[in-house]
Amino acid sequence: MVERSIPYNATHLVGDTYVVPGLTNSGFIRGLAVDTCEDEAPFAGIGVDRLAITHGHADHFAIGHVLRDAGARVSVGRDDASLVENPDINIRGMFSWAKPGDFLTTKLFRGEPCAVDDYVEDWDDARATPVPLPGHTLGHYGFLTADGALFTGDALYLKDLWERHPLPYAIDPGEVVRSLERIRALDCSWLVPGHGYPIERAVAEEHIDYHVEQIRAIKELLLTRLVKPHTTEEAIALVSRERGLRENPASYWLAVTTVKGFLGDMLNAGALEFYVHEHAGWWKTA
Ligand SMILES: [Zn+2]
Repeated sequence: MVERSIPYNATHLVGDTYVVPGLTNSGFIRGLAVDTCEDEAPFAGIGVDRLAITHGHADHFAIGHVLRDAGARVSVGRDDASLVENPDINIRGMFSWAKPGDFLTTKLFRGEPCAVDDYVEDWDDARATPVPLPGHTLGHYGFLTADGALFTGDALYLKDLWERHPLPYAIDPGEVVRSLERIRALDCSWLVPGHGYPIERAVAEEHIDYHVEQIRAIKELLLTRLVKPHTTEEAIALVSRERGLRENPASYWLAVTTVKGFLGDMLNAGALEFYVHEHAGWWKTA
């Protein structure tokens, strides 16, 4: 039997479930890590045999390659695996697959590649159960530990985080809401978001409600203001301005994807129309 300890700075949550604090919260359950913090020291020499990554953003697998080199098998959802193995794909996608200049790239998407051993879709590990929570990315998963703690990755933003992140990255806001409702319906005792702090299930409702309400408010903003047609670029500026985003290239490029996520979702739902005029793309309330 392999002797194991726990990361020296870990906080005990419930049963065998621990939380390793950092810019990104990490979970530790008897040798299973869920996401990683940015520091490799807490995980050194404690025998991580498996790393489950919630999604393909580099801040969630910052030291994934170190854990894998030390013997961990790495699991991630099929749709996000290529983002983990090649973080540059995020940057290319952000720039419509054209080659962006280095100055455009947000730190969030820069990271060390990490090889992937298996897909979460083929998961078979009693220490946790994967829960599909797409919307932030396509292949985003949460992990519910056998002790009832749900690691939600970036599927849920706590109320306190919205002031700093008034327009959280999402490729599909409709899916974000469906994933939040899936979280609400789950039987768990604790929720551990990727950023922020663990919350007990009893207080989760207000955080879920707040997140759902923010998405509804952004859709409402687009519906009322796009009565007057806007180009894609004007729609991005409108939402960024009204949400109070900081004005810098990194925020702008994240907003481009998220606002297009809203526009596409609302177009699919028949709430918006799209047309091309004077070689620009225009959006209008249907
Ligand atoms: Zn993320």
